[in-house]
Amino acid sequence: MPPPPNVACATIFAVATMDGFGAMSRLEAAAAAAAVTYVDRTQVGKHLPLSPPAREAAGTTMAIDPATRANLELTRTLAGERRGSLLDAIDCTVTAAGSRLLAQRLSAPLTDSATISHRLDATTMFANDSAARDDLRGILRAAPDISRALARLSVGRGGPRDLAALRDGIVAADKILDRLSRIEKLPRDISLATEALRRPSRDLAQEFSRGLADELPLFKRDGGFVRAGYEAALDETRNLRDASRLVVAAMQARYADDTGIKGLKIRHNNVLGYFVEVTAQHGDKLMTAPLNATFIHRQTLAGQVRFTTTELGEIEAKIANAGDRALGLELEIFDRLCAQAVAAGDDLRAAAHAFALLDVTAALAKLAVDENYTRPVVDNSLKFSIEGGRHPVVEQSLKREGQPFIANACDLSPGPAQASGQIWLLTGPNMAGKSTFLRQNALIALMAQIGSFVPAKLAHIGIVDRLFSRVGAADDLARGRSTFMVEMVETAAILNQAGERALVILDEIGRGTSTFDGLSIAWASIEHLHESNRCRALFATHYHELTALSANLPRLFNATVRVKEWQGDVVFLHEVLPGSADRSYGIQVAKLAGLPAAVVARAKSVLAKLEAQDRSTTARALMDDLPLFAVPSRAAAEPQPPSAADQVAEALNALHPDEMSPREALDALYALKAKLPK
Ligand code: ATP
Repeated sequence: MPPPPNVACATIFAVATMDGFGAMSRLEAAAAAAAVTYVDRTQVGKHLPLSPPAREAAGTTMAIDPATRANLELTRTLAGERRGSLLDAIDCTVTAAGSRLLAQRLSAPLTDSATISHRLDATTMFANDSAARDDLRGILRAAPDISRALARLSVGRGGPRDLAALRDGIVAADKILDRLSRIEKLPRDISLATEALRRPSRDLAQEFSRGLADELPLFKRDGGFVRAGYEAALDETRNLRDASRLVVAAMQARYADDTGIKGLKIRHNNVLGYFVEVTAQHGDKLMTAPLNATFIHRQTLAGQVRFTTTELGEIEAKIANAGDRALGLELEIFDRLCAQAVAAGDDLRAAAHAFALLDVTAALAKLAVDENYTRPVVDNSLKFSIEGGRHPVVEQSLKREGQPFIANACDLSPGPAQASGQIWLLTGPNMAGKSTFLRQNALIALMAQIGSFVPAKLAHIGIVDRLFSRVGAADDLARGRSTFMVEMVETAAILNQAGERALVILDEIGRGTSTFDGLSIAWASIEHLHESNRCRALFATHYHELTALSANLPRLFNATVRVKEWQGDVVFLHEVLPGSADRSYGIQVAKLAGLPAAVVARAKSVLAKLEAQDRSTTARALMDDLPLFAVPSRAAAEPQPPSAADQVAEALNALHPDEMSPREALDALYALKAKLPK
């Protein structure tokens, strides 16, 4: 039976109990134990230097469920590619570690406004100081990946170049410190990074510089990586080995003289070791007396004949011994340097993290300058006010095609008379840009909370603690859920969990079922968001009937995306304005998409018939029939005490007449009667 999780963890971290790492629940300990056991097993006995498990305080990062992550295409698109994702659009880092850290930050935006401000201060500094930013990025680009090198060395898979990487990393840290020292006042995060850069011992770098040769082999087993003069014993053995090589050269000259064969050569290969080689025409000479007493035939090839001699064999053994000894000594030195590196692991990892942090910060600053982003205001209010907002990914792809992106404002802030959470109900034609608008606002909040500037003219964001996005339709057939079921599961998650600090993006809910079912669900969901969740929300829909809700819901604001009709076609202006759309122009969009003319014409006549029935009266009728206060409020959803009739039925159910005496039956009857209201 496997040991309990706490014990497994404690064994790996070589401590008697995990209590020192803070109170962990059994579940947390089990998760940590599973992770470390996996690492331990895959490393076959080699102990990776793992940092002890740290507990992330709940609520320090924005909660983003998997569906929202996928819908917003944060690090991967819905098709599973990095290209086209938010990460891809905003990643200007120059190191692999920087890119990893940016992805990590994007997956866990912060909720503490002070920490976000510190990050933004750091980004601002590099946005304003382009010279420092460029210099820093230049140094980082040339700097090695310290954490990778250290990880390889720690598990015994490292080579001499990994030691050199650590040395060069420390040198790069000094260069960065030197460059940053020219800046008068460093923001807190950068100043903390400089402290981390100072941590690794400079003696270690010097030791590595003295010990490592200029040219390094990839593998330690190839030898030759220790600098001459570093260790006397190694120099001595190497001299012996090299001297023996000189002896071979002298031997070749002597053999050529003795045999009179000018072209005689002593060569080496891995099969024969050292051997004497002559051309085929001289082979016979060495195989006949008296020379055959010295030269022993080994191999005849098409053009050459190969021999050995006793003397050559002896020298070879000496060279091999000296070579082996030299390599053995080099490997000992390698192990020593490696142990020093591993012992300094914590400091080196801290410096590596500082490199990544500086890379991410400078990269976000470069992005801000190149893409004309602004520093957002992030505080603990419930504001959500964006002027001139843009979608970071769509903007870049339109730019590549030479097209402009139309910026749009969005304000979900509570007004003076409003308690909290404004909801924008966005109607508008197909292809007008509703989804783009919804997502851009979610992405702006998310970018602000990772400490990035945002694609907007002005942005004021009160911390968002949970981000929900239900965009588009997706099947999850593998888990046995149809399109509509997926949609409803995700909507349920939002309506059940969103609090007043949440930001909710709902794009066309109720689309996967019949019109009236869908409309009813969307209707009730908006009411619930408004009355119970009271969160900031953006709701896009083609059910224009829903716009009537604003008459009863004071914080519901109708917005629409403007289009122009021109000669029967539709021109998309992508401008979001107050108001509501009266039609979806779906048929015009279908025509643009190339639907056969006959189908388009037929659709138009069907639409005309349907519109004659005037769906808007339905909405008005609904408003009258379903006043707001018919909204099943939270109170209504709470369990009610059972009625008297229910209590009697329950008591009756519990009786077993066959097992009762007449007296007991009479008592039971009285008890039942007592339950009824007087
Ligand atoms: P549907 O209702 O059919 O889902 P939609 O209104 O959600 O459509 P989007 O998918 O957001 O429309 O946008 C359609 C296209 O319009 C985008 O791919 C983009 O190229 C372009 N677009 C959207 N918003 C803008 C904008 N603000 N400026 C420029 N182009 C835009």
